[in-house]
Amino acid sequence: MPQLMQLLRRYWPIWLILVLIALAYWPGRVVMMNVLTEREAARIASITPDAGAEVVPERLNIDRMMADLIWLADAEREGRAPGTDGGIAAREYIVEQMTTIGLEPAGTDGYLHPFETPQTTNAANVIGLIPGTDPNLRPITLTAHYDHLGIRNGAIYHGADDNASGTAAILEIARFLMDYPNEHPILVMALDSEEWGLLGARALFETNFLDPRNVAFNLNLDMLSRDTDQLLYAVGTYHNPWLRPLVQRVQRESGARLVMAHDRPWWRAGRTEDWTLSSDHGPFHEQGIPFMYFGVADHPDYHRPTDTSDKVDVEFYRKTSETALSFLLLIDQVFAEKRNP
Ligand SMILES: [Zn+2]
Repeated sequence: MPQLMQLLRRYWPIWLILVLIALAYWPGRVVMMNVLTEREAARIASITPDAGAEVVPERLNIDRMMADLIWLADAEREGRAPGTDGGIAAREYIVEQMTTIGLEPAGTDGYLHPFETPQTTNAANVIGLIPGTDPNLRPITLTAHYDHLGIRNGAIYHGADDNASGTAAILEIARFLMDYPNEHPILVMALDSEEWGLLGARALFETNFLDPRNVAFNLNLDMLSRDTDQLLYAVGTYHNPWLRPLVQRVQRESGARLVMAHDRPWWRAGRTEDWTLSSDHGPFHEQGIPFMYFGVADHPDYHRPTDTSDKVDVEFYRKTSETALSFLLLIDQVFAEKRNP
């Protein structure tokens, strides 16, 4: 052993470089091995990226989505900060919608999953379940945060794009899936306190509400409703390279231009931001659950009081939400068959 120590000490820069290289390639590989069975991998390989419809499907009702978005981003909600009157009103509105849609209450207190943190009081996630046609499959989680920055220096931060848009989208996707159920159960989760550090998503695991081994996938939607270049970022393929052909396949029927980016660490991406931990998909990824995050680039109204409903690009928002639904249906297909024991 002393000889080994000597070797380690003498050539330490070389060992260090080797370890760094290994780490750079680590995440994608490991997750991939943990997640895919041979059959799933074969199924993904059989997906032809350039096949499929070229028209954007019309399954979601954009008028209902806009009504939800406008209600959530209204000045009366006062920016939906966790535990405030506006935040609680938003939460109650989501409960009402989930009830009308017919989702099964899946929180710890009806639809609610309340949690306390040092940064927020009286915060709660809102969670409903769409049973799958195959009860043996692990649920797919469909997440969007409904909280926003509240009132600061007397100004209301409306948070229309961030993230009334994602919240309204998961509700409308839920309405569609009630009529056309997936094989997987879908947990529809409107999460709280994202703006305070992804606290709602973290609470899912810290309170043991979710066991990471029993979650098949996380699809997270955060900011879907506007982009001057009609771009929608698809974040997560670096960590799970098997998602690439799925994104390519969905691109075929997406009116938005999908860009796979913002998920590589700085030493590989250079100046591009890494959004791996920038929204609620982060804690899922940290638990080893594969994820996809759809969201637009930051715009001039991002985290400003001027992020209001009238700025929404309605047709673009319809397309990005349809894209998210297409992707969810594809994930359901890929993992649909029961796992080999
Ligand atoms: Zn957000």
